[in-house]
Amino acid sequence: MLKQIKGLHHVTSMAASAQENSDFFTKVLGLRRVKKTVNFDDPEVYHLYYGDEAGTPGSVMTYFPFPHIAPGRKGTGEVGETYFAVPDGSLGYWKERLSGLGLRDLRERDLFGEKHLRFEGPDQDGFSLVETANDDRKGWTGEGIGSSQAIQGFRGASLRLRDAGATAELLAFMNYQQVERKDNWVRFAVAGGNGADFIDIETLSSADPARQGSGSVHHIAFAVENRSAQLEVRQALLDTGYQVTPVIDRDYFWAIYFRTPGGILFEIATNEPGFDRDEDTAHLGEALKLPSRYEPYRSQIERILTPIAD
Ligand code: ZN
Repeated sequence: MLKQIKGLHHVTSMAASAQENSDFFTKVLGLRRVKKTVNFDDPEVYHLYYGDEAGTPGSVMTYFPFPHIAPGRKGTGEVGETYFAVPDGSLGYWKERLSGLGLRDLRERDLFGEKHLRFEGPDQDGFSLVETANDDRKGWTGEGIGSSQAIQGFRGASLRLRDAGATAELLAFMNYQQVERKDNWVRFAVAGGNGADFIDIETLSSADPARQGSGSVHHIAFAVENRSAQLEVRQALLDTGYQVTPVIDRDYFWAIYFRTPGGILFEIATNEPGFDRDEDTAHLGEALKLPSRYEPYRSQIERILTPIAD
């Protein structure tokens, strides 16, 4: 059993438009853009990161905007919804704000005793705002959103699977305990987590597999404190039979990836070194930052990427 995992680190999804994506996460949801960089495996595409003031692990929603990507089709073998924690009593504010900004199909739901406001992002990405008591994480404020409403980070995420069995076993191995079950939903929670502590599995045994595209989650990342904890997790996964990538330097964290039995790509990411590694905290996310290997190609990359207006 792995004790090193501390909840979610980030969730990475795909979008069609960088501008629309940036506007939605900063101006509608009020997150802070904490990094503007490129996809390290495809530097003609942005990689945009949004979160709290510092981009604390457990708060970071990230996107690859691919200009010509086809829309995803929802189904099994993917992350269903990403949950954001908001302060107790703030859902009324959010309902009014989101509908006032033109979001349609806002749906309320009670899941395991928590109040959710479900909505979709610009690419029909699935989200819920979840009212959470006793969460002392401080959200980024602005755009008319105060500290009693601001998103505090992730609460967790749901996974849509045809069959929960093997993924439930994997989560148990990752130190997630099954805490609740209702109908076709099972909830897992990690002890000692960073606040982004819950994974729900929704079993849809007769649904078709998802097809990834814009609006789909590309992968979901779990947090470990440092590189030595990551190496312990990597070895334990290898010993259990998972195919795990070598450790990859993502500049702001170190990453390993593996495919889960249900088809979802999991990442384990370190809390170190963080987003202030290459720019001042006061100006996170403003300038285009490139990993050092692409710095010689900056002018070509800047010609290809459409600038994002703030
Ligand atoms: Zn990642």
